[in-house]
Amino acid sequence: MDSEPPLAERLAAVDAGIADAARAAGRDPGELTRIVVTKFHPASLVRELAALGVRDVGENRHQEAQAKAAETSELGLRWHFVGQLQSNKARAVRGYAAAVHSLDRDSLVDALAAPDAPPLDGFLEIDLSGEPGRGGADPADAERLAERVLATPGLRLAGVMAVAPLGQEARPAFARLREVSERIRALSPGADRISAGMSGDYAEAILEGATHLRIGTAITGKRPIPG
Ligand SMILES: *Cc1c(COP(=O)(O)O)cnc(C)c1O
Repeated sequence: MDSEPPLAERLAAVDAGIADAARAAGRDPGELTRIVVTKFHPASLVRELAALGVRDVGENRHQEAQAKAAETSELGLRWHFVGQLQSNKARAVRGYAAAVHSLDRDSLVDALAAPDAPPLDGFLEIDLSGEPGRGGADPADAERLAERVLATPGLRLAGVMAVAPLGQEARPAFARLREVSERIRALSPGADRISAGMSGDYAEAILEGATHLRIGTAITGKRPIPG
């Protein structure tokens, strides 16, 4: 028995929530990009979303993303890679993604270098947990990593990304991300995007300046068990 409201209703409810949070923050909802994270869902769900006007979709596993992007290529969607990325898969991700939100180390940045390819947007993933090994670069290392992206052909430094740490209040964590964003903008004024906010905390992220929201379950409903 599935008592969840249909996709269109959930999408509309999230978009209304985004608009409310933007107004509360004194921001224009039109400056926010809502990425629907479709991981573990079939390409048919991506098609349904596209029919509802969704243009930006996100995935966190390369093989799954590549297959879905190929199956839906005629829809002209913008694919955002939001998960941890192995360096040996980096070049293949360029084949379908418009943006990678998880640049967290030199080897990955270097693997994405491509002098003759169209520029790929890259977000520096920042670790807000303070615990090593959780994914994301140390905030203290952000400028150095940013410089490396700026020196890498085929990459355009878009800004910063983070996931709010488990078991902590989201808003103070996103406030720390905003500080990192300000430091990166001092280095590269165009790198002004902030990818933050998921189903449970997008309002807090918008209050702290998020420009790109990565929202899964609040729109797609429960995820199937990963295959
Ligand atoms: C799955 C995922 C999301 C979406 O999470 P929800 O809680 O379902 O909204 C956002 N960002 C990343 C990096 C993810 O892996």
